[in-house]
Amino acid sequence: MTANIAFIGLGNMGQPMVANLIKAGHPVRVYDLQPEAIDRAAKLGAMAAKSAVEAVQQAGVVITMLQTGHQVDSLYVGGADPLFRHLAAGTLVIDCSTIDAATARATAAQAMTHGLDFVDAPVSGGVVGAEAGTLTFIVGGSAAQFSRAQPVLSQMGQKILHAGEHGAGQIAKACNNMLLAVQMAGTCEALNMGINNGLDPRVLSEIMGQSSGNNWVLERYNPVPGVMDKVPAAQGYSGGFKVKLMCKDLDLAMDLGKISGSPVPMGAAAKALFNLHQVAGHEDLDFSSLLTLFQKK
Ligand code: NAD
Repeated sequence: MTANIAFIGLGNMGQPMVANLIKAGHPVRVYDLQPEAIDRAAKLGAMAAKSAVEAVQQAGVVITMLQTGHQVDSLYVGGADPLFRHLAAGTLVIDCSTIDAATARATAAQAMTHGLDFVDAPVSGGVVGAEAGTLTFIVGGSAAQFSRAQPVLSQMGQKILHAGEHGAGQIAKACNNMLLAVQMAGTCEALNMGINNGLDPRVLSEIMGQSSGNNWVLERYNPVPGVMDKVPAAQGYSGGFKVKLMCKDLDLAMDLGKISGSPVPMGAAAKALFNLHQVAGHEDLDFSSLLTLFQKK
C-alpha cells in the first residue's frame, strides 16, 4: 500500500532512503535546511518543499533523519513552529535519527498528546546499506506502533527489529555504535601495525577476515584505501558516517554508562581516539579515516 510520505533530513543517509521509498512507489515530499540537498532529492523524483510545514501537508507518514536530539526536539516540539501542531491526528511519525533516549521518550509523549503514533527507529548499516535497502531498523514504541511502522521501514531495510518501548531503539543503537567504534579503532590499529611491518593490507585484511579477529569493519567497511570498492576509504573518506556523528554517538553511550552505573572503559578509549581525530580537523570525514590517526606522519 502506498502512503504520502514527508521526509525531512536529506544528508548522507536520507538521500538513499528517499530513493528507495520512491522506487517502492510512494509519493515523497522532502525538506532539508540545505537547498542543494532538496535539489538532489528532487532529481530522484521527490517533491520539493520550501519548509518542513509544507513538506508534511497531506502526509500520512513523516520520517526524519536528522543529526541530533536537539534538532529533533526543535523540529517537532520545542522550536518556534512545532511540527506536531501541523500533523493530522493518526499520522505515523518515524524518527530514524540517532539521538538520546530521553529526547525520544519526551517526543513520543508529546506525540501522544497530539494523537500521533511515534516510534524511534535509528538505523544500522551505513550509507551502503541505505543505498541497497538493506538497513537494520532498531525500533522503540508499542507493539501496535511497531506493526504500523514495519511495512514502511521494510522498503528501506531488510531487518526491522523491535527493541521495546519508546527510547529502547535509541539505547540499543548506542550500545551497537559504541561496539562499532571499538571495532573500528581496533581494526585500524591492527591494520596499521601489519602495514608498518611490511604486510600488504589486502592480504592482512583477508587473513584477519578468515580468522578470529573478523568483524563488520573487515567485512564491509575496510578503512585502508585500495582494499575495498564503494566504501568511504575508496573515496578520500567522503560520504559515509561523519567523525562528528560518531563522537556524538559515543557521548550518548557514555551518558548511558553513567546513568546506569555501567563501566565503559573500551567505549571511553574509543571516544578519546575519535575526539582527538575530530579536533585535528577531520570532523566531516567518514569515521574510517581514524586510520590516519595511527599512521606515521
Ligand atoms: P548528515 O549530516 O549527512 O545529514 C543530516 C541532514 O539533516 C543534513 O542535510 C541537515 O541539513 C539536515 N537537517 C538538520 N536539521 C534539520 C532541520 N531542522 N530541518 C531539515 N533538515 C535538517 O547525517 P547522516 O549521516 O545522514 O546521519 C543522520 C542520522 O543518522 C544521524 O543521527 C547519524 O548519527 C545517523 N546514522 C548515520 C549513519 C551513516 O553511516 N551516515 C549510519 C547510521 C546512523
